[in-house]
Amino acid sequence: MALPDPDAPRRSSSSRSSRTSVRPDDRLEEEVTRSCRDKRDRFTNPWSTWQFPSGFMLTKFLLRKKRANSNFPARKEVLDSELPVLEPYFVNNPDLSPSGPGLRVTWLGHATVLVEMDGLNILTDPIFSQRASPFQFMGPKRYRGPPCSVQQLPRIDAVVISHSHYDHLDADTVASLNARFGAALSWFVPLGLKNLRAMNGCKNVMELDWWEENCVPTHDDVTFVCTPSQHWSRRNALDTNKTLWASWTVLGPEHSFFFAGDTGYCSVFKEIGRRFGPFDLAAIPIGAYLPRDVLKGQHVDPEEAVQIHMDLQAKRSLAIHWGTFVLAYEHYLEPPRRLKEALKQKGLNLESFFTLHHGESRLLTSHGADVYH
Ligand code: ZN
Ligand code: ZN
Repeated sequence: MALPDPDAPRRSSSSRSSRTSVRPDDRLEEEVTRSCRDKRDRFTNPWSTWQFPSGFMLTKFLLRKKRANSNFPARKEVLDSELPVLEPYFVNNPDLSPSGPGLRVTWLGHATVLVEMDGLNILTDPIFSQRASPFQFMGPKRYRGPPCSVQQLPRIDAVVISHSHYDHLDADTVASLNARFGAALSWFVPLGLKNLRAMNGCKNVMELDWWEENCVPTHDDVTFVCTPSQHWSRRNALDTNKTLWASWTVLGPEHSFFFAGDTGYCSVFKEIGRRFGPFDLAAIPIGAYLPRDVLKGQHVDPEEAVQIHMDLQAKRSLAIHWGTFVLAYEHYLEPPRRLKEALKQKGLNLESFFTLHHGESRLLTSHGADVYH
C-alpha cells in the first residue's frame, strides 16, 4: 500500500472506517458546512451565531482588563492547593507501555492534551512556554506552569493545531518538538498555517481544509479529519483571518477523539456528531468566556460547552482552556463550578464531562471503569 503523501490531502472525509457499516449510506452524501472567504480573501465564519466585538467593545474589554487580573490569587500556596500541578505518569517512568485496550488522556495545561489511542501518541495545541505571546517578556503569562518539558514527553507521533493564536500555536514549543522528533512527527494544521513562521523547519506538515482528512505516514488506520469551529485567527496586525481555524476529529479502529480547539457555539457540532459521533472522548474548552458581549462569538461558556458535548454525542469529555492563563474576566475557578452546574441541569452524570489536574491522566476503558494516574 502506498504511504499517504503529506502534500496531497485527500478531499472530503466521508466515513469512519469500520464503524460506518452500521450507518445509513446517505450520510456519506450529506451536506456539510464548508469553509468560506470574504471579498478580501480572508476566512469568515458561515454561521449567524458568529459575531466579532466592535472597536468600542474591545476598548472597553482592554480597559477592564485590570479587574480581570484580580480574579485569580497572587499567592502560590492558594494556587498549589486549588490547582495543583502534578508530575505526569510518564516522567521518569521507564515502563511506557501503551494504554492497552483503552484510551489514555493527560491534561498538560490550557488546550494542551496528550491522547494515547490506537497505537498513536497525539498532542493538541502544545504550549510549554511561560507566555502566550510572540515575546517572553510580555503578553499573557501562565499562572500554572507546564507539568513537564518537551524533553520529558513520551514519543509523540502527531500534533494537531487548531489555529494561529499564541495560546494555541507557540513557536518555541513547535521548535522544541521539531528538534526532538523531526520527521518522525506529523503535524496537522488548518489552511494557511503550513508556511507560517512558527512552523518553519517542520517536516511532514499536513495542511487541510474543513472536512479534508489525512493520516500519519505508516499508520493509515487512524484518520485525522480537519473539522470546523467558530473562531478567528491572528498573529500580527496584518494577518487577521488569513489562516483558517479548525477542530480535529481523530478516528481509529478502536477509538475516536474530538478536539474542539477554541470555539464559540454554533450548529456545526451537531453536523460533526451526526457524521462521526459518538466519540469516546472530546476535549472541549470551558474558560475565557466573560464578558459575554465581547467573547460569545469566539469562546463558549461552560453551558455551551455541555451543549457541544451533547451535540457531538461524546461519551466522555475533558474540560480544557481554563486554569492556566488569564485571558478573560471570570474568576479562575468559576469554569469548573459552572460546568458541574450545567451538567446537573441537563441531568448528565458529572463524570461524563470531567476536569483533570494539570499533569493528571485518565485511562478510559470500554467497560466504563476509569483508571487515574
Ligand atoms: Zn483563539
Ligand atoms: Zn485560546
